[in-house]
Amino acid sequence: MIPRLRPAIGLQEIGAALTAPHTVDDFERAFAMLMDQAHAVAFPYGRTGLLILLRALGLKNREIILPSYTCVVVAHAIVLSGNKPVFIDSEANGFNMDLDLAEAAITPRTGAILATSIHGYPVDLDRLAQLSHRHPDVAIIQDCAHSFSAEWKGRPVQKAGVAAVFGLNISKLMTSIFGGMITTDNDQLANALRLERNRTVSQMNSRGLMRSVYLIASTLALNPSIFGLVKRIADAGWLNRFVKYYDETLIDMPGDHLHGMSKSEASVGVMQVSRYPTIIDKRRKIATYYHDALSDIFPTQRPPILDGATYSHYVLQVENPQKLVRLALSRGVELGRLIDYCIPDMPVYRDYLPASPAFSRTRQLNASVVNLPIWVDRKGADRVVSVLSDIARL
Ligand SMILES: *Cc1c(COP(=O)(O)O)cnc(C)c1O
Repeated sequence: MIPRLRPAIGLQEIGAALTAPHTVDDFERAFAMLMDQAHAVAFPYGRTGLLILLRALGLKNREIILPSYTCVVVAHAIVLSGNKPVFIDSEANGFNMDLDLAEAAITPRTGAILATSIHGYPVDLDRLAQLSHRHPDVAIIQDCAHSFSAEWKGRPVQKAGVAAVFGLNISKLMTSIFGGMITTDNDQLANALRLERNRTVSQMNSRGLMRSVYLIASTLALNPSIFGLVKRIADAGWLNRFVKYYDETLIDMPGDHLHGMSKSEASVGVMQVSRYPTIIDKRRKIATYYHDALSDIFPTQRPPILDGATYSHYVLQVENPQKLVRLALSRGVELGRLIDYCIPDMPVYRDYLPASPAFSRTRQLNASVVNLPIWVDRKGADRVVSVLSDIARL
């Protein structure tokens, strides 16, 4: 069974996790260099980084604009920072937030906009620059958890704003087991971030061993030769403690969201920094391969191929995604449903809904998206395509 995701973890990373040769400082320096930014500051999770970034920017009781089609933990961090999320519908022909609607939503209370390059498709930096020019007091924060070094017309998205947020769990483009990063070119902001982090996040090297065990177990579990069995166990609910990403009924953070990054995690991160160019290169090749190979069966359902995109996910939009997922699963390919919820429609977020109905484009995405395994090599991609072709012929 081909799993829908698998981190690019080799023996080097496993060794690094177990021997922990690098410090968090080493990882920060390597990551800053990879992203061409003056500073990188490490956190236990991306969401912890965002929480502390909003604090370091002095934002409190303000409105923070973000996409309705994004990971729900982003909205949680905004609420828990003492600010109010303002959700914006998706653009007409893409996965990102509609920047015209975002600009129209700016009020005197707006503190920041979270520009997010969903699925690795770069946010339109030209449109964002116009917006920023007219609203210089609104901080632009890049959410790069899906994009890392994605580029808009050759310009890296992470540098187009006051700071950028990265998530580093094993489902991301690169990983430090768990963890997150904030990058910035602003010296003063970097100092404020470090001060606030050192004040609130405890140093917990003790978690390194458990995290290494988690890395080894998940790398093994996501091996296609045993993943079928693992999935049956997971579907029976026995692994909920490890695979449940968030609780739908609460706006909260994980219990360890203030337990600092361990040296094991930092050491895996250092290895992944050097592997990153290969990871992206491979994803771009597989995305292009899918694009060509699926031109007959999914001509209009395929996502765009775009220079500068990093393809954290390769996402089709189909009429009956549940059925496709089910049929593919019975043929040995796990597909994903990212993102199948509209945050402001979730019961815990209904309080924040504006009076008028909106978010129709996000709901359309929620109802149609299916993501293919993009971590695979060419042979794996062939399998996926042949399974999808079989289904199309039914
Ligand atoms: C994963 C993710 C984050 C943050 O991730 P953490 O799990 O908090 O490390 C932020 N934004 C998006 C879009 C994400 O997918």
